[in-house]
Amino acid sequence: MPVYGGIECGGTKFVCAIGRETGELLSRIEFPTTTPAETLGRALEFFLSRPQTPHSIGIGSFGPVDLNPRSPRFGYITSTPKSGWRDTDVAGTVRRAMSLPVAFDTDVNAAALGEARWGAAQGLDTFLYLTIGTGLGGGGMANGRLLHGLVHPEMGHIRVPHDRAADPFPGCCPFHGDCLEGLAAGPAIEARWGLRGEALPPDHPAWDLEAHYIALGLETWICTLSPQRMILGGGVMRHAAMFDAIRGKVLTLLNGYIQSPEILDRIDKYIVPPALGGDAGVLGAIALATLLQ
Ligand code: ZN
Repeated sequence: MPVYGGIECGGTKFVCAIGRETGELLSRIEFPTTTPAETLGRALEFFLSRPQTPHSIGIGSFGPVDLNPRSPRFGYITSTPKSGWRDTDVAGTVRRAMSLPVAFDTDVNAAALGEARWGAAQGLDTFLYLTIGTGLGGGGMANGRLLHGLVHPEMGHIRVPHDRAADPFPGCCPFHGDCLEGLAAGPAIEARWGLRGEALPPDHPAWDLEAHYIALGLETWICTLSPQRMILGGGVMRHAAMFDAIRGKVLTLLNGYIQSPEILDRIDKYIVPPALGGDAGVLGAIALATLLQ
């Protein structure tokens, strides 16, 4: 039975794994994201030292990335604010070193594909996968196809109402200041409150503000894409009380306008954590690799 490789390239950590097309993981490793040379080197070392050579390797990467197969920079991380990673040829580096077919997509599209095949989006054709952690990004499917388009969606960089009297923090996106990512991703929590999210107590006002901004994003995407489900992963969402807070605020924002029982009666099944947990990204990368038959 063939095996497939997956790499989840995250801004904070990389996860590499070998698995089967059933979603069974055979080996897995994770390590912090440092420089491109060191981090990609560790990923290659992992695959080259496995007993079985994978049929192909899938990569889900933080971005922005170039997904146009006709572009000379296909497979690159392009205009990222992450230091040292701008203009990094991720897919080409792996393809040349391994001499294997390589599939490449955004980290959130890969995770969405993993959830569609084995997790919380099975049987759905239009849904979103959001990650709220080092950055805030979204991917997913519309009518059964992964969302690509001109470049790829950059859902974290939408503008949301920002009441500067209630929240004077100016935002920390290097491109936009107070876009949604600049107000609500992990670095914004740390910059606004002086403590990382995991150090904040459960009753800290940070969480209500966080749920408020995320709900504004979800309401926008519900009204634009009409997703059948929204899956929320990433480090910030490990604060479990966030789910109920966000669900309540989304219902308030929609104000009964979207007449779907999925939202009105079953919102706890509509806004959900990834069923694949912390493996959504790397399993999704393996799912991408299986598409290269
Ligand atoms: Zn931005």
